[in-house]
Amino acid sequence: MLVGKFANVVIDISHEKVDRLFGYIIPETLRDKLEVGDLVEVPFGKYNAKKEAYVIEITDTSDYPEDKMKEIIDIVPNAVSVEKDAILLAYYIKDTYGSTMIQALKTVLPAKKIVKPRQNKKIVRKLGRDEIQSLYGECIRKKQSAKARVLKELVNETIIPYDIVVSKLNVSPQTLMSLTRDGALTVEIEEVYRNPVTNTNDEDNKLILSDEQQDIVDTISSTFDEDDPSKGKFLIHGITGSGKTEVYIRLIEEAIKRNKQCIMLIPEISLSYQTLMRFYKRFKDRVSVINSSLSQGEKYDQCQRALNGDIDVIIGPRSALFTPFKNLGLVIIDEEHDGSYISESTPKYHTNEVALKLCEIKGASIVLGSATPSVDTYFRAKSGEYRLFNMTKRLTGGELPRVSIVDLKEELKEGNKSIFSRALIEKIDEKLKKKEQIMLFLNRRGYAGFISCRACGNVIKCPHCDVSLSRHYGGKLICHYCGYETKDVNTCPTCGSKYISSFKAGTEQIEEALKKTFKDIKVLRMDADTTKTKDSYEKILSAFKNNEADVLVGTQMIVKGHDFPNVTLVGVIAADLSLNEADFRTGERTFQLLTQAVGRAGRGEKEGEAIIQTYRPDHYSIIHASNQDYLGFYNEEISYRMLMDYPPCGKLLHVLIQSKDERRALGLATALMKRKTEGVRVIGPAIDSISKINDFYRYNLYVKAGNEDRIIEYRKVMEDFLKTAPLKSEIVTFDFQ
Ligand code: ADP
Ligand code: ZN
Ligand code: ZN
Repeated sequence: MLVGKFANVVIDISHEKVDRLFGYIIPETLRDKLEVGDLVEVPFGKYNAKKEAYVIEITDTSDYPEDKMKEIIDIVPNAVSVEKDAILLAYYIKDTYGSTMIQALKTVLPAKKIVKPRQNKKIVRKLGRDEIQSLYGECIRKKQSAKARVLKELVNETIIPYDIVVSKLNVSPQTLMSLTRDGALTVEIEEVYRNPVTNTNDEDNKLILSDEQQDIVDTISSTFDEDDPSKGKFLIHGITGSGKTEVYIRLIEEAIKRNKQCIMLIPEISLSYQTLMRFYKRFKDRVSVINSSLSQGEKYDQCQRALNGDIDVIIGPRSALFTPFKNLGLVIIDEEHDGSYISESTPKYHTNEVALKLCEIKGASIVLGSATPSVDTYFRAKSGEYRLFNMTKRLTGGELPRVSIVDLKEELKEGNKSIFSRALIEKIDEKLKKKEQIMLFLNRRGYAGFISCRACGNVIKCPHCDVSLSRHYGGKLICHYCGYETKDVNTCPTCGSKYISSFKAGTEQIEEALKKTFKDIKVLRMDADTTKTKDSYEKILSAFKNNEADVLVGTQMIVKGHDFPNVTLVGVIAADLSLNEADFRTGERTFQLLTQAVGRAGRGEKEGEAIIQTYRPDHYSIIHASNQDYLGFYNEEISYRMLMDYPPCGKLLHVLIQSKDERRALGLATALMKRKTEGVRVIGPAIDSISKINDFYRYNLYVKAGNEDRIIEYRKVMEDFLKTAPLKSEIVTFDFQ
């Protein structure tokens, strides 16, 4: 421990003007107690208001005259302190993404306060295998589907985790109580955390790795002993079902053998019960799963277990990256292209980048995995930064679905104005008759203000930026990158058709249209409206899995995770929706979504089919997605990025300027634009596609440069300018694209 006289602290106030270190004297009583990372209480400002602050440095000397310095009051009781490595990481986040140090520290701090941990519950089987089996049969007959779900899992396991059953199998505590009364199980509580999985003889049924898998495991795990972290960066590009998860599990085992710990990141909602159980069975009480709905007490509990060395593996969404392991050896990011890895609030950090930094600090290896890697990651893999592995075969057999593309322009020509093409109607009918299930996917994300022609497929775009123009009040079409404006149109400028408009259909309309077209059809709908409550997501999925509906209609939420063996048809209502967002990444996002959506069909025994409806059947994202051809897509996409100087070929920073006063927003944006430094190009200011939210007017600047350092330099100039500018309601946020 460092015994010093002075401490430099960051005050817990998120304001640019106090975003620096403040020096305090450490009182005698704290000198041998205080450590870097501790949360303390200090007098602050003219009136010595008590504020909390994190200790960043402890020193013997101070530049400031000692008689003018104040003393630290005390260490805050029951607070969680920041690890030293986490402070380094916070500096990196602050510098790269732009935030105050206190915001960055709070980002890397996994739990804020010490709270009494909750009890751990498990479900223990009380009947023999055969009795459970027959009870299961009885529940099926009586259509008690929730009970049946639990019993099915208890046939082969004698203990299962309570939380996972309740959340992932969507079983209510009442159902478990009823099963307790039936004598089938008991719910037991433990004070000490013990992971609740029985030791089935899984040593015996461990899979034998394929040569491809074995090679990947050997190569990657050989870097666990290296001191040079630059050797341990990998990308696994493998189609769904090619055995990536099995590779992750083996890699984690290898790391644990070397007394190292692992963090495995997953997109928010994608882990199924079955996959979770695979991890539990392998790592028993050494693994812990966290999710975003965890309480402070639970988060604190997880941190302590990691710090104490009680667990070796943590699985969770992006915030799990900040789990404080002592000897971190491996970070895995599954579905690395997923949008949930970019933080929505300041600092808007990119998990992949921060993970790289963390691995560099800790000397750990990093493995990214995806069936559709992000263009940025793949580009970096091709340039040698990540070592690339390809997994091309499905291990459990099963063919990729047959995909056909339907041209919606042709439908209109033939007089079909409905949202379903004739081919889709025919297929839905066929599947309904066979009692097979259908998923209909509307790739709509929030706002879609673009204008397209239903007769020729033309989309009105900015002549300078190659992104779609958005319709605004007052009869204007606006590019929200550069501010280009043009008059709104009534007829298509290309073909003269009057069928030119923004796309209006939502999931509700699709549901209605289905009910009108097919008698007695049972439809489940999943979108932002139907998933507002905590477990509605799992509820809808498990109802669908139980064959309680014929069709699941939904937005991007339905393309992730969970296998539905009885789904043999996937229909994409209008692939153009995501293609025409006003953003340079639309081609990439569309490819990823379509590939995932199409891959939902035919996961079981029966062959799957998919129909993609679109006005642009010749678009490369759509064609390559229908062929499940990643490389074909990547090559076309990267040449577009190269041409337009978009990332990863160039770097792009989005600056959002908001104010309650529209003139002030535009004025500040213009002032910032004028501060531009050498080597950057600033585009804008332009009004955002959503011009006002919560009474705040929104303006954009886009900063382009060949390398990131140039942009960071300019961002610092902007930040310095903001510190002295007379701001009122203005808010400026930075966001790397
Ligand atoms: P991915 O994560 O790429 O979708 P998984 O690891 O989940 O793939 O594997 C897909 C399926 O193949 C799983 O059911 C898994 O149990 C099985 N599997 C994985 N590796 C092997 C193997 N070496 N031999 C046999 N089956 C395997
Ligand atoms: Zn037209
Ligand atoms: Zn433009």
